[in-house]
Amino acid sequence: MKDCNCIFCKIADGEIPSATIYEDEDFRVILDLGPATRGHALLIPKDHYPDLFELEDEAAAKILVRAKRIAARMKKALGADGFNLVQNNGEAAGQTVFHFHMHLIPRYREDHAGILWEPQKTTAEELEEVKTLIQGYQEDNG
Ligand code: AMP
Ligand code: ZN
Repeated sequence: MKDCNCIFCKIADGEIPSATIYEDEDFRVILDLGPATRGHALLIPKDHYPDLFELEDEAAAKILVRAKRIAARMKKALGADGFNLVQNNGEAAGQTVFHFHMHLIPRYREDHAGILWEPQKTTAEELEEVKTLIQGYQEDNG
């Protein structure tokens, strides 16, 4: 499952040094080198999955449990006021490293981190159309 040219595989394996705040047999959690806020960390599975759509169900379940536990610890240790879990898939969504990872982002009142979006306008017709498209699409077990 390892991709030898992947920077996060190398970081997860310890081949490239990182500011590691947690490690077990499945994950490494490191501090982001370009943090959105103080303490911004990345939860990186040791197995290589390019993105959410390639992730095995078992790994997906473990990731949320681990993210929850580390986030709780970070929030207390850093005195954060809130917390964002962010996970990008595909260039259009801002993904730049194509090894699945979850951003763990402590939030502080008035930190002005640009993580939230500007709400757009919609209509009842558009909501109905989108709902029908998604509900009517039955390719897998989602
Ligand atoms: P994404 O845009 O969701 O793919 O996130 C990639 C993240 O990895 C960015 O927030 C980068 O700042 C971070 N990053 C890239 N290379 C490293 C590295 N060597 N050590 C720590 N963080 C990194
Ligand atoms: Zn990788």
